[in-house]
Amino acid sequence: MGRVYNFSAGPSMLPLAVLEKAQQEFLDYRGTGMSVLEMSHRSSAFSEIIAQAEALLRELMNIPDTYQVLFVQGGASLQFSMVPLNLFKAGTADYIHTGSWSKKAIAEARKYGHVHVASSSENQNFTYIPDVHDLRPEADYVHITTNNTIEGTVFTKLPDTGSVPLVADMSSNILSQVYDVSKFGVIYAGAQKNIGPAGLTVVIIREDLIGHAQKECPTMLNYSTHVKHSSLYNTPATYSIYMAKLVFEWLKQQGGVEAMEEKNRKKAALLYDFLDESKLFSSPVLSDYRSIMNIPFMTPTAELDAAFLQGAKAQGLETLKGHRSVGGMRASIYNAMPIEGVEQLVSYMKTFEKNYR
Ligand SMILES: *Cc1c(COP(=O)(O)O)cnc(C)c1O
Repeated sequence: MGRVYNFSAGPSMLPLAVLEKAQQEFLDYRGTGMSVLEMSHRSSAFSEIIAQAEALLRELMNIPDTYQVLFVQGGASLQFSMVPLNLFKAGTADYIHTGSWSKKAIAEARKYGHVHVASSSENQNFTYIPDVHDLRPEADYVHITTNNTIEGTVFTKLPDTGSVPLVADMSSNILSQVYDVSKFGVIYAGAQKNIGPAGLTVVIIREDLIGHAQKECPTMLNYSTHVKHSSLYNTPATYSIYMAKLVFEWLKQQGGVEAMEEKNRKKAALLYDFLDESKLFSSPVLSDYRSIMNIPFMTPTAELDAAFLQGAKAQGLETLKGHRSVGGMRASIYNAMPIEGVEQLVSYMKTFEKNYR
């Protein structure tokens, strides 16, 4: 079987055990005589799938009962609009600007109200997470991007927002490390990085933040709609929800988020330790803020980067090209990337360095 180690930032690798389970159940889901792909979202079999997906996520993230879990569509990008449409009351919010995704979130929120950029790391190309000190008590919420997928940075300490709800785009590091959900008002994440296939977006929202949408807010963009109908107001991304359920089961078998975090830190350390000793490869990110999910690195020249990428592909190390805004390479090593994949990458980097210096 010719499976590669796929370092794609998203859609990204899924655990092999999950793909195999889906394959087993593909044609005839547990004696129903049909595929989940063909199943009514109102059938009892699917009701059980979505209920289990929610219960497993609640268990894995220790989500308090005062929070609703929603399975919606539109990606994290639609949350850039749904958050302001639902959370603006005074019509003003604080955003921490840490990269390309926060830039898009800010641009959307500005369509509906006032955005105050409380701090930004744009001055140094988003290679660090700025200190946060300019938060305003009158803000309706504070928005952060916990892990910056493109730049490879992570908030190692959450900002203290007092009684102002903290809203987090957790697309690229949800379920990769332990977070205390009660510290957040809203957490949202596109599924295609650490949860499952594309087409599904997970929203975790504190109940007191539901029911205050702007009058013009479209029905489909109102969190209340999805809460009232348990994510079944319209046809949800049924197969993606099923796959997410399988991933949650797998995560539980792996020992849960705490065990996964330990593995993820080990995987990331393998790569960072080599980057720190290498004379050829370097990391653009300040060491205090390095992501354990997305790791950009580069050689001194674009020509060497290209040669590196070509050789990597030949060895089954795929999709390592960096984002065009950063250049070089990027290894996305989400939960489903086994440690062997990172070991092979580092081993190839060592060989490449010997041959090209
Ligand atoms: C991928 C990503 C997005 C965009 O997600 P879509 O689901 O494609 O809309 C937004 N924010 C972050 C942090 C991401 O990694």
